[in-house]
Amino acid sequence: MHSPPAAASVLALDLGGTKIATALLTPDGDLIGEQVLGTEPERGPDEVIKRIFELGHRSLDAAGLSRPAAVGITSGGPLDPIRGILHEPLHLPNWHAVPIGPLAAAEFDAPSTLANDGYAAAWGEYCFGVGRGARTLLYLTLSTGVGGGAVIEGVPYRGATGNGGEFGHLTVRSGGRQCSCPRRGCLEAYCSGTSIAARARELAPDRPTITARELVALAGSGVPWAFDLWDETIALLADGLTSLINIFEPDRVVLGGGVANAGPMLLDPLSELVAELSLSATAGSAIMIADRPGRSGLLGAGSIALRPVPRPDLPTQPQVSHV
Ligand SMILES: [Zn+2]
Repeated sequence: MHSPPAAASVLALDLGGTKIATALLTPDGDLIGEQVLGTEPERGPDEVIKRIFELGHRSLDAAGLSRPAAVGITSGGPLDPIRGILHEPLHLPNWHAVPIGPLAAAEFDAPSTLANDGYAAAWGEYCFGVGRGARTLLYLTLSTGVGGGAVIEGVPYRGATGNGGEFGHLTVRSGGRQCSCPRRGCLEAYCSGTSIAARARELAPDRPTITARELVALAGSGVPWAFDLWDETIALLADGLTSLINIFEPDRVVLGGGVANAGPMLLDPLSELVAELSLSATAGSAIMIADRPGRSGLLGAGSIALRPVPRPDLPTQPQVSHV
């Protein structure tokens, strides 16, 4: 049962590498009027932005609102959250310095906020999701890429220029598979949906279109090569997650993104391994899957607009790094 849309509802725009999605987030934390389309990033920023804005208007129409109280936008980085500019996002090749924040503010006649998707999703889960009540929360999204974010003692961790918390680029296998970043062996190179599917195709060339979801289903039904690949994926994720848990000692770890739809197939062996490996006695039980793993991005996009956080740690002159 959703609350009726209130005038204070905000518009969430989630600009992912595989899909673009929009919805209204109500002050009670309900997502309504959700719209989703394939990103098709090769069509270039003008076309993709036009389409995500059209989806945004459809969400507003579905909620019976003419304009939102604010607009929250999330994307993979690197980006400039102060000026609302996407620099060269790893998941959107050939996008350069796209001012999506100001464009959205003009389109919807409302203030806009742009944030890294992992940062925002961590905040969304902390405010409205399974992270409610936590003090220190880590969030990992297992999606097109692997994003991350942290809320430390109630404050989302942003980093010097708003691009901190990229947990997906933690090395889990030195010299391993090439990542989308300049390095090899990152968590993202093994545990994103894209990487799981790519590894599955290498092992089963007769299945050229296999997806991560199909791989999980095969593993669940006991197909040996699929089971081994999933087992390796869990082991590498446990390695990366254990490093993070040893550093932060969070009281909650939330997993989102499409791969987290694997549910107990993911959570049970992962929690068991992390409990064995980590230095914290409670680490295994701290891991949870988001209520709506595929919608953490939208929840995050809405949350940064609905519950803006103070930014005392940001420099007045941002020095944006380029990967
Ligand atoms: Zn990487």
